[in-house]
Amino acid sequence: MGTAGLMAVPALWATYAWGSHALTLGCAWSGPRDARKISLTFDDGPDPESTPRVLDILAADGIRATFFLIGDRAARQGSLVRRIAEEGHDLGNHSWSHRSLWLAGPRRTAQEVRRGHDVIADIAGAPPRFFRPPWGMTNLALFPLLRRLGTPCVFWTVQTEGRRPAPAPVQVERASRRARPGAILDLHDADGVPGAGQRLVDALPSMIRALKADAYALAPLSDLL
Ligand SMILES: [Zn+2]
Repeated sequence: MGTAGLMAVPALWATYAWGSHALTLGCAWSGPRDARKISLTFDDGPDPESTPRVLDILAADGIRATFFLIGDRAARQGSLVRRIAEEGHDLGNHSWSHRSLWLAGPRRTAQEVRRGHDVIADIAGAPPRFFRPPWGMTNLALFPLLRRLGTPCVFWTVQTEGRRPAPAPVQVERASRRARPGAILDLHDADGVPGAGQRLVDALPSMIRALKADAYALAPLSDLL
């Protein structure tokens, strides 16, 4: 391979992985702004400790939400997956192993998406309705695959905790300050960032109170979008 060829490889890869960010415009970032409705979405579960507590909090308030499950965690927590579905929440696919799709070629991308999709469908008895890429990282192989599976890509409007831990009161304040009609809130009911599940359990009751005080109705994505 000549110098030009060597230069072409990273350029092609950058187009495949990062160039796909133009396509994320095709992903949902929020719902319609004409109704005072927002969605709570929970990523990275199911977690045997924090997910049941999140479900209890939601049930106490009669709130339905959306859970983006990691396939290999779902496979180990079958009864929890069924509980989420039975309590009326939407299920979303958050890939099989939460690997960055920026580092995955087309074949690996297909495996990550399909395996996550299939395990959730098998356990819950109905396929997931949405897909959210781990860390919001997409690539060009992802979008045709999602079209075939009928699971639209959903990002978020507001993230209360990113890669750095945010204490519960900070998360409540962020959710409340950044919420607007149609917003999709990205929350984590399981650890990626250590302690995320517990911080969310601590924050969620106050967060719900603050959002309701601002006259927002909380709806699952299937209702919002
Ligand atoms: Zn995640």
